[in-house]
Amino acid sequence: MERDPSESEAGFAGLGLRAELLRALTNLGYEEPTPIQQGAIPPLIAGDDLVGQAATGTGKTAAFALPLLQGLVPAGRDAGPSALVLVPTRELAEQVSQAVHRYGRDLGVRVLPVYGGQPIGRQLQVLNRGVDVVVGTPGRVLDHIERETLRLGDIRTVVLDEADEMLDMGFAEDIEAILAETPESRQTVLFSATMPPRIDGIARRHLRNPTRITMGRKAVEPGELPLVRQSAYVVARAHRAAALGRILDVETPTAAIVFCRTREEVDQVTETLNGRGYRAEALHGGMSQDQRDRVMGRLRGGSTELLVATDVAARGLDVEQLTHVINFNVPVAPEAYVHRIGRVGRAGREGCAITLAEPREQRMLKAIERLTGQRITLEKLPTVTDLRARRLEVTRTALQACLEGDDLERFRVVLDSLTDEFDVENVALAAVKLLHEAAGGDRDEDEIPTPSLPPEGRRAPARDNRAPGGKVARLFFGVGRRAGVRPQDLVGAIAGEAGLNSRDIGAIQITDRFSLVEVPEQTADRVIAAMQRATIRGRRPTVRRERFAR
Ligand code: AMP
Repeated sequence: MERDPSESEAGFAGLGLRAELLRALTNLGYEEPTPIQQGAIPPLIAGDDLVGQAATGTGKTAAFALPLLQGLVPAGRDAGPSALVLVPTRELAEQVSQAVHRYGRDLGVRVLPVYGGQPIGRQLQVLNRGVDVVVGTPGRVLDHIERETLRLGDIRTVVLDEADEMLDMGFAEDIEAILAETPESRQTVLFSATMPPRIDGIARRHLRNPTRITMGRKAVEPGELPLVRQSAYVVARAHRAAALGRILDVETPTAAIVFCRTREEVDQVTETLNGRGYRAEALHGGMSQDQRDRVMGRLRGGSTELLVATDVAARGLDVEQLTHVINFNVPVAPEAYVHRIGRVGRAGREGCAITLAEPREQRMLKAIERLTGQRITLEKLPTVTDLRARRLEVTRTALQACLEGDDLERFRVVLDSLTDEFDVENVALAAVKLLHEAAGGDRDEDEIPTPSLPPEGRRAPARDNRAPGGKVARLFFGVGRRAGVRPQDLVGAIAGEAGLNSRDIGAIQITDRFSLVEVPEQTADRVIAAMQRATIRGRRPTVRRERFAR
């Protein structure tokens, strides 16, 4: 699709980003910087150290990645990488690498994710060819330093991403050891969702006069908020589009705006909703004013029922009929949430604000609640049974409205001719069936799985040597102290390879020759299977259930 670069470039260009990066952002459909990006990018470009309190979902990755790329001087054959990003998990290492790659495509940036469990040979090959940015978990980065396969002498910037998570996973010593290998003149950036004293300690020891950025501190005045029902659904990214469809089916809004982050997302969601039988239209900053006006006209006139929009495109928009604001993902800043829900519930009318959040984004919901002083109720996604019941209810309401109208006489000939042969009750049932089917009421649906991660608030304290609640299995790992194994190596391997949340891992016992680790019973087989691929401290240990449970 044709892109009008003007809006995104104005916002991001104002931050001083170079043309190659602005182009990449326009192509990705980013329309304007998020608050954390607005606050962090200029000082980072100026070379300052920075401490940012920001959770997943705020756009923090681009906040540090864009300045890294801005100053990038491609490494020569013999030079080492110029930037190092430390992250707690394999999943995040991959995500951040992909983001750096996408933003820096036009700059020809070479980025390598390194994490435990991945074959080290491939990492060595790439490192030998030269990379600009390394994104890694502390354990594996330290492995490379010890093998002298990663030299940090040319590092100009170090980013500690999700620093609180890294400490929770026991990586504090590794981080210290890695920082000691980097030049003192480096720029150091620390992002963390929470700022416990230990994080502050790291910042004080390793950062020089950092700029500090905190999100969502300013509480909203009660009068600024409309009275709307606020709810949220936690759903994995892969099921988000299906979940949206189901929620709309149950909510049956008269007119709604679905907010998305990027233009790409707007286009995809519009297509999905139209495929589901809704009359949805896209509204984003890439459209001309004329096009936008026509879309708005169709919404006001009732020939469109859903607008799918970015924040920029929906700015200043005022539609009387709106009953629902739906956030396809958690807004990048609590303030943006307040703006969005201000579109409904005006002048005493009823309104609903519904937010879809990924499991990792629940922290943002809490930040929003703190800002607004209002509760967001976590709801369970409607099941297939709920949906069927709701659709029958919709059919019933439609029939009732029709019965209350008075335009039925012209159909009497049909009824009369049928009642010669059939019972009037059966004729009515057939009519209900046809109406129900025509409205898509019998569409097949699959259940949407509930994410397995525990919600925030139920989190077990890290590494307290107690198993988290529920049935626990104890796994035997054939490596122990003699192989140099530490709790964080085991946690890192299990979290990274089996995709388990580190908080789900219970007591860890390390003896000279082997280790015992508690994991939730229902994950035990998955962990054992995943460990067949894992290397821990350079070894590939036997992993099985402990034979003689005590
Ligand atoms: P993060 O908080 O870094 O995990 O980013 C959350 C999501 O927001 C990612 O999917 C990004 O691609 C997206 N994102 C980051 N910055 C922007 C922006 N300025 N506009 C739209 N989307 C963004």
